[in-house]
Amino acid sequence: MIPSVLPTYNRAPLEFVKGEGSWLFEADGRRFLDLGSGIAVNALGHAHPKLVEVLSNQAQNLWHVSNLYKIPQQEKLADLLVEHTFADTVFFTNSGTEACELAVKMARKYFYEKDQPERVEIITFDGSFHGRSSAGIAAAGTEKMVKGFGPLLPGFVHLTFGDMDGLTNAITDHTAAVLIEPVQGEGGIRPVPDAEMKALRQICDDAGILLILDEVQCGVGRTGKLFAHEWAGITPDIMMVAKGIGGGFPLGAVLATEEAASGMTAGTHGSTYGGNPLGCAVGCAVIEEVMAPDFLADVNRRAGLLRQRLDGLVAAHPEVFEELRGSGLMLGLKCKAANMDVVQAGYDNQVITVPAADNVIRLLPPLTLSEEDIAEAISRLDKAATQVEQTPG
Ligand SMILES: *Cc1c(COP(=O)(O)O)cnc(C)c1O
Repeated sequence: MIPSVLPTYNRAPLEFVKGEGSWLFEADGRRFLDLGSGIAVNALGHAHPKLVEVLSNQAQNLWHVSNLYKIPQQEKLADLLVEHTFADTVFFTNSGTEACELAVKMARKYFYEKDQPERVEIITFDGSFHGRSSAGIAAAGTEKMVKGFGPLLPGFVHLTFGDMDGLTNAITDHTAAVLIEPVQGEGGIRPVPDAEMKALRQICDDAGILLILDEVQCGVGRTGKLFAHEWAGITPDIMMVAKGIGGGFPLGAVLATEEAASGMTAGTHGSTYGGNPLGCAVGCAVIEEVMAPDFLADVNRRAGLLRQRLDGLVAAHPEVFEELRGSGLMLGLKCKAANMDVVQAGYDNQVITVPAADNVIRLLPPLTLSEEDIAEAISRLDKAATQVEQTPG
């Protein structure tokens, strides 16, 4: 008999009842060090006092009004994002996949309004992940995600990750945009090198097409900058954001330049919930925290410490781990052992990591991870790796 919850997930048999900082608790009091943050969502850890306060206050006053009316929390969050990024304007969604939908619509509408309606194609890369909507799965093109769900949304061209020569050749009179994650998350923590990000920007400019960045996973301080593309010193035309921006409240956004957004006039897009007072009140608090003086400098300092300790861990367990990669607190341990065995051994030692493609385990801890937490992380991962080594393969 089918379970009452549609069985689309492979869930671990863990059930948490409380979270605090970098820690999750089961009902019996067992505590787990959370190096996954609910897939890079709990950017400020669990039950951050400021977020709890802001959300509770907002809940006392007003939950929802719809976008038929003005929403001051939404305007404040948009102003904050415009102040701190390349963007001139912001649309709020409830998730990353909805941000993908709008990014694709916005790019196509832009060229439609520029009398180039034939420019509809979006170029994407293998190993990417852009959500599970029809546009998202067509964009990524991964067989596991698209099989059986056709006809797929047309207009996506898939290239090999890192194939810059292929990119130049793939751009035609039908190309509207390139869509890429600056650091692939689900694909196994694969960063696009800064030089390639710069080249991408140049290629898009030369061809007169838009650059769309998917910073759903790598954004909001995760790599040690507010947004990952800042490391390369470039800016996109359109950017998708979600996950960390709500700190656990479902919230997403599309950021854009005035030019790229120029086709999106009144009535062209909408969302009932998107940008509601609860989500945006929390989003403001998250961005204010991440933009507070020294916050990101401190993230980078602790990320350096964690990476240094993880390098030691990889060296100590050459049969389990192959390499450490990633940026800031968006780290991947490429495994030699089966990554699910390492994740499982982590559960046994009460440390949570997240599997990804390419036999990687992801470490996406709260940005607030303390030095004590780092020491605990290394000690628990070390025990997990030892357990994997001792398990007959
Ligand atoms: C998670 C993710 C998405 C989809 O976001 P949802 O909120 O799950 O819809 C899109 N792009 C990237 C890079 C992601 O990591």
